[in-house]
Amino acid sequence: MTLDLRDYIATVPNYPEPGVMFRDISPLMANGEAYRYATDLLVDYARSKDVEMIVGPEARGFIVGCPVAYELGVGFAPARKEGKLPRETVKATYELEYGESALYLHKDAIKPGQRVLVTDDLLATGGTISATIKLVEALGGVVVGTAFMIELKDLNGRDKIKGYDIFSLMEY
Ligand code: 5GP
Repeated sequence: MTLDLRDYIATVPNYPEPGVMFRDISPLMANGEAYRYATDLLVDYARSKDVEMIVGPEARGFIVGCPVAYELGVGFAPARKEGKLPRETVKATYELEYGESALYLHKDAIKPGQRVLVTDDLLATGGTISATIKLVEALGGVVVGTAFMIELKDLNGRDKIKGYDIFSLMEY
């Protein structure tokens, strides 16, 4: 069975601000067949990279990464915003259009040398995924791949994560 996953992405003009075309994955997640189909493709990719651990930034990185971790029988560690993780953390900052943001990972989330897949729903400028990669590497993890449902080609996120393997299910 082949599905065209684009049929399950809703495009919302001028969200969250004028001029932005937001690609909404919720119809995909809401359809059991499409969500499983997308997850199976991501699982095949993760398997090909001998992934031992998955890390995703809140919140949609969890939606993409957790079912893959479950299927592979590997762990998942959440990269979270300020004040969300209760124990000792490492921090990585990244640039937003106006100002800066930060992501955190528990210090014991990754074992040195572990083969890590980093997941998110969408690659835009690459800021979020770069920060997530930095966190994994700060703990000695080896980022063997990055996986997304959607890649926005025009924003050149690829350039920000040059040298890392990138897998995406859809391009816009
Ligand atoms: P980046 O850091 O690559 O510029 O932006 C990617 C992050 O912003 C991801 O965590 C993603 O969830 C969110 N994001 C930015 N634009 C969109 C969009 O059009 N659709 C969705 N679903 N997420 C977006």
